[in-house]
Amino acid sequence: MRDPRYDILFEPVRIGPVTAKNRFFQVPHCNGMGHERPRSMSSMRGTKAEGGWAVVSTEECEIHPTSDLSPEIEGRIWDDDDIPALARMVDAVHAHDALAAIQLVHNGPTCANRYSREPPMGPRHEPVSMYDPVQAREMDKEDIRNVRRWHREAAVRAMQAGFDIVTCYAGHGLALPMHFIQRRRNIRTDEYGGSLENRVRLLREILEDTHDAVGHKCAVALRFAVDELIGPAGIMGADEGRGVIELLADLPDLWDVNVADWKNDSSTSRFSEEGSQLDHVGFVKSMVKKPVVGVGRFTSPDTMVSVIKRGLLDFIGAARPSIADPFLPKKIEEGRADEIRECIGCNICVAGDFTVTPIRCTQNPTMGEEWRKGWHPERIAPKKSEASVLIVGAGPAGLECALWLGRRGYQVHLAEAENAIGGRVARESRLPGLAEWGRVRDHRHVMLAKMPNVSTYLASRLGPEDVLALVKDLPADHVVVATGAKWRRDGVGRANAFPIFDHSSVFSPDDVMDGVEIEGPVVVFDDDHYYMGGVLAEKLAAKTPVTLVTPANVASAWTANTLELAPINRRLRERGIRVVTSKNVVSFDGSKVGVSCVFGGPLETIDAKSVVSVTSRLPTDSLVHALRDRLSIRAIGDAFAPSTIAAAVYSGHRYARELDEPKLTLPFLRDGNLRPRLDSAP
Ligand code: ADP
Ligand code: SF4
Repeated sequence: MRDPRYDILFEPVRIGPVTAKNRFFQVPHCNGMGHERPRSMSSMRGTKAEGGWAVVSTEECEIHPTSDLSPEIEGRIWDDDDIPALARMVDAVHAHDALAAIQLVHNGPTCANRYSREPPMGPRHEPVSMYDPVQAREMDKEDIRNVRRWHREAAVRAMQAGFDIVTCYAGHGLALPMHFIQRRRNIRTDEYGGSLENRVRLLREILEDTHDAVGHKCAVALRFAVDELIGPAGIMGADEGRGVIELLADLPDLWDVNVADWKNDSSTSRFSEEGSQLDHVGFVKSMVKKPVVGVGRFTSPDTMVSVIKRGLLDFIGAARPSIADPFLPKKIEEGRADEIRECIGCNICVAGDFTVTPIRCTQNPTMGEEWRKGWHPERIAPKKSEASVLIVGAGPAGLECALWLGRRGYQVHLAEAENAIGGRVARESRLPGLAEWGRVRDHRHVMLAKMPNVSTYLASRLGPEDVLALVKDLPADHVVVATGAKWRRDGVGRANAFPIFDHSSVFSPDDVMDGVEIEGPVVVFDDDHYYMGGVLAEKLAAKTPVTLVTPANVASAWTANTLELAPINRRLRERGIRVVTSKNVVSFDGSKVGVSCVFGGPLETIDAKSVVSVTSRLPTDSLVHALRDRLSIRAIGDAFAPSTIAAAVYSGHRYARELDEPKLTLPFLRDGNLRPRLDSAP
């Protein structure tokens, strides 16, 4: 039964002509499936509706070929052929008594129209975002009329597809109505430029057009970034953000407010906490009579209640918390708040957009797999045999495997060498800013404690003979090796195919996490390019001078995909860490590190007493090699192929799903378009 403290979260809220059954609102989020993989996209959205979200929205949907974000895959509503794919999503959402929302966008100068080849356009002549050698041309009055017409037609198509809420988009610095508001972009001298009232004109007209076209049936929402967090150069909450709200006040049926740009809106847990946007958006509700939704990686029902009671928001908006746990509302409603799989704020989900691949989530391995693999975030097929399983290693892979094998009803024995579970997430969550990553362990810990058929043995480092004995004594039919991986100390990685280090003052990330004393000054050689090099540099810099050397052209290069590139590089500078880019480390003699420019040129040296080598890892898989001919034994997670935490969780989950199930030729279904005229085209 629901805790009465949370009743307020389940009150219905009226939005224009429609009513949301509770206060849980899945705001727009990209997913790398969109118009290219509509079955996958709609199934994912339907699962959220099943999980209790009262409103489930699409990602941004491009309204016209002049707004073409290819190759990134968003939503698309260019013409009637896009209706069936979107209607499929609406049906999936309606099947669970939730409202379906669509966010319409014209991306103006922030898209290069790589696929459509249409010249981009915006309030002024300016180069497009990204480094495409392409400029957006200044829109004339006819262009403005066209954009309004396309938006109106898209709204009508959205209504035909069955959407309940049509969201006009002026957020993230990604949408034309926001570009018109931005002083730095809008230098027009006509009635669309100059005063704030003039710069808001396009947004006002789009809102009015949308109301006029579909307002009798659909609620018209506005997603607006009230602060760009760049001071007076941008929209500031205290100044023009407030001004826009005053000017539009009760024109939208719902205000969906956040901060821009995307990296600020979807800031990772390394850089901001739950509810961090409230300081910026909290003022909106006092200025409007219409309901307000806002986000802030809300996962705690107590925080949610407090946000509503303090009159800051009417809806708990969520993208990432709904990705990590599509059943978050249901769990609160059913008195199972302790079972919420809390988002860890790592932004692996965001990386799908940048890498143009279906969304993945560290906490929720079923995300994006709902249709193509038939994976449900809460349900799994019961066991198909009486087999019992010994899992060696309780890191993310072993824990996830144990949890879902346990859910299937198998007898599971989980042996862990250390005195605590968690493996790499236990260790890495102690690094600066990564505390929330411990939630990967915590959720599984809570769930496993409820399972009588899963036994966990701590301080149990198993060798081959131990495994053989246990398999006999327990007994166990299958052995799963989830023993993780170790960082190399020899420097082998992307830039160096052969060992470059053979010195006792070269350390690995494992050494740093083990608390080994490291004498400075230190060179951190980052040939991994994700978070580890940067975060270790940050940790070490608290005690000693640090230089980070990387063959990439920027520190922690891959974190561009998790929206962390700017905050990480800012933090490295703030901590006084010297960053040397486009240089490979080639030697270390105990006092000097030899570095070579990746573009050629003479060798240079950097003075250092120690090197921390962050290059690559090797699986800890000796158990498999020792026993593979004698037992049913398999490695999963990092012990099989070192990768992200998300990949380890997925690997453990997959083992549990596939045990005793028939092997498929292809492990998933392939998705494709649903556009009728295209399908019948020659
Ligand atoms: P993954 O990311 O694949 O889950 P981790 O490195 O996070 O891998 O976790 C591996 C876990 O396995 C660690 O907690 C480690 O202590 C444990 N482990 C490693 N070798 C053994 C062993 N021989 N017996 C039991 N546990 C082990
Ligand atoms: Fe949260 Fe990470 Fe999952 Fe994204 S990938 S929803 S940030 S846990």
